Amino acid sequence: MRALVVKFGGSILEGGYSFLGAADIVLDLMEQECAPIVVISAMKGITDKLRSVMEGTEGHLRQVFDLHREVASDLNLPKEAMREISDLLNELSRTVWAVRMLKEATPRVRDYVLSFGERLSALLMSHVLTSRGVRSTWMTGGDAGVITTRDFGEARPITRRTYPRIRRKIRPLLLEGVVPVITGFLGMTPEGDITTLGRGGSDLSATLIASALNASEVRFYTDVEGVLTANPEIVPNARTINRLSLEEAMELSYLGAKRFHPSTFEPLIRSGVPARIISFHNPKGSSTLVKGTCDCQDKVKAVLAVSDLALVEVRGTTMVGRIGTAAEIASLARDSGVNICAISQPVSETVIDVVVRKDCSKRFSNLVERRLKSKKVVSSVKVKEDLSAVVVVGCGLRSPHNFQKVLRLLKHMNVYLISRGGERVSLTLLVDSDRAVELVRRIHDEVVVDGPA
Ligand code: ASP
Ligand code: MG
Repeated sequence: MRALVVKFGGSILEGGYSFLGAADIVLDLMEQECAPIVVISAMKGITDKLRSVMEGTEGHLRQVFDLHREVASDLNLPKEAMREISDLLNELSRTVWAVRMLKEATPRVRDYVLSFGERLSALLMSHVLTSRGVRSTWMTGGDAGVITTRDFGEARPITRRTYPRIRRKIRPLLLEGVVPVITGFLGMTPEGDITTLGRGGSDLSATLIASALNASEVRFYTDVEGVLTANPEIVPNARTINRLSLEEAMELSYLGAKRFHPSTFEPLIRSGVPARIISFHNPKGSSTLVKGTCDCQDKVKAVLAVSDLALVEVRGTTMVGRIGTAAEIASLARDSGVNICAISQPVSETVIDVVVRKDCSKRFSNLVERRLKSKKVVSSVKVKEDLSAVVVVGCGLRSPHNFQKVLRLLKHMNVYLISRGGERVSLTLLVDSDRAVELVRRIHDEVVVDGPA
């Protein structure tokens, strides 16, 4: 019996028919003698709606109610299922009522409210399977054994506690022929409070569960045909990448069309469980296998552009040899709530270049100017807008030959910053936005060469 984790993402869960499609996939796997374990996200847009409900947006709670009731009735679920759904919805509405009365939602309460999205999906999925004659039971990630830290909103799984619990809970079900449907995104503190794993966290739930069970594969069913070599809107001949190493997948996880939780592939490094990214709408079509580490045969696999960036250039000879300047700049980014997308400094130490999103560059540069210029630590802070990062990914970039091939394409182009990713499997080039598309196309045509297997 091959245990196989199948993860259905929120982007594909739009209505009753999506749950039926997911059930078809599960049934198909069972016919192939697999023991599927389903990990499921909240329906499309629901997590955002629940977030805004807590921020006081009127009407969104109603929409959450209506959507799930409508799906349940479209699916013709039995009375018992309808009652369970009503129970969950009533509990959600009581919690939201309490939040509104108290005019405050602590991080613990926020996670509790968010958990309803995944719980409703799992409940629906499990009942759909039951109505198709499959023995099934649903549970939260925490009940399945995912134990996390108390960092509500960004909780981290405690692997050493999680793995044995998942095995104890899930293995007996598989042996009895029961299909477990587990909420992604959710964990539980050792004290029993529900936590969430951060945006897109159900991807991480799937790889954790697959690793704990030493599954034969973890499959991500999503709305794209695997990972593509480039954005097809820019590069019409972009195609599905057959295989990515774990290092490559980690470099791409946050940037591609299907965004993964940044830690998704980490559990797979140790467990060695392969992952596959498959189209939900065309499961027999092309897909991407994520497996193993880089080897010398590897190629340059993908190129993409991240737009709307700005470069904040902090200069001053007083920075040279002064310990702590970079740390001060980074803490000012933190204080102004700005994420640093890329950063660089030459050994002369006369400048620190910080790349941030365009819409927050002024906020950040003003703060650096106010704090560090007045202290005479820096002499100027300049902002250059309308920049894009062209990111090239592939183990093949480790070869000087491929690396130089990319650099040669930069002739006649202003490059504001160059940075290499982990294990040298990615290369970031900051260029003027109006040149980015052309550069992506040229790199795709001349360097990205992953052909069919
Ligand atoms: N529903 C959660 C989110 O939208 C988790 C997930 O979809 O992975 O972030
Ligand atoms: Mg998602």
